[in-house]
Amino acid sequence: MKIDVFPDYETLCAGVADAVAAQLHQKPDSVLVFPTGNTPLGLFKVLVTRKLANQVSFDHAQIVILDEYAGLAPNDPRSLTDWLKRELIIPAGIPTPSMHGFGHGTNRLEDKIHELGGLDLVILGLGPNGHLGFNEPGSAFNSRTRQIDLAPESITSNAAYWGSEDRVPRHGMTLGLGTLAEARSLILMVSGESKRGILSKTMKGSISPANPGTMLRQLPQTRVLADKAAIEHPV
Ligand code: PGA
Repeated sequence: MKIDVFPDYETLCAGVADAVAAQLHQKPDSVLVFPTGNTPLGLFKVLVTRKLANQVSFDHAQIVILDEYAGLAPNDPRSLTDWLKRELIIPAGIPTPSMHGFGHGTNRLEDKIHELGGLDLVILGLGPNGHLGFNEPGSAFNSRTRQIDLAPESITSNAAYWGSEDRVPRHGMTLGLGTLAEARSLILMVSGESKRGILSKTMKGSISPANPGTMLRQLPQTRVLADKAAIEHPV
C-alpha cells in the first residue's frame, strides 16, 4: 500500500484536496465518498476555498454518504449526513439532490451506487480501532452496506458530539467493506500522533477483519496520505 507523508496537517489537507480536484477534472460527474470526523475538517475548508475561487467544480459530482447513525429523525443536526451538509455540501454549493444517503434503506443505497456506475473516489478516515466508516472490527471484507452495532471504542470516541456516552446511538449504517473495495480509487487520510499505533498496525499488522483498515492492503487502488505526526518514528 503506497503511503505519501506530508510535513503537517495543512499540507496533508492540500494533498487530499489535490486528489479530489484531479478526479473531478478528469471526470466531472465523479461519484465521491467523504468521511466525517475531525480528520477531514481541514480538507473540507480547502475544497470550499478552491470551489469559491472556481478552481474546482462539484456541479456534476455525486456524493454518497459513508456512514450514519441508525434511528435518527431526518435532518437531525447530530446526524453524520447533516454534519457533512454543514461542513462541505452547502458551503461548496453542491446541489443536495446529488447527495445519496441511507434515507431509503441500506439496500436502496447499494442499488443507487450501482445506478450511478460505481464509486470513483472514496476518502476514508481511520478509526481509533481501525474501523472504516462504521465497519467495526469483525466486519467481513466482503460485507455489503448494512446496519451494524457500534463498537465500544466508537461509542467512546463519539461521546463528545453527544454530550455523554449514554446518549450515543448504539447502531449505525455503513457502506460495507466489500462495497468500498469496489471503488475505482481510495484514499485513507490519517493525521496526528493519536493515530500512530493504529496506522502502524494497519500498515504492518496481520491482514484480518479484526482490523478492518488492513483490508486496504489488498486493494492496489488505495493510497494512504498521512501527516508526519501519524507516522511512527524508528527508535
Ligand atoms: P476522526 O475519526 O477523524 O475524528 O479521528 C476517524 C474515524 O473514526 O473514522
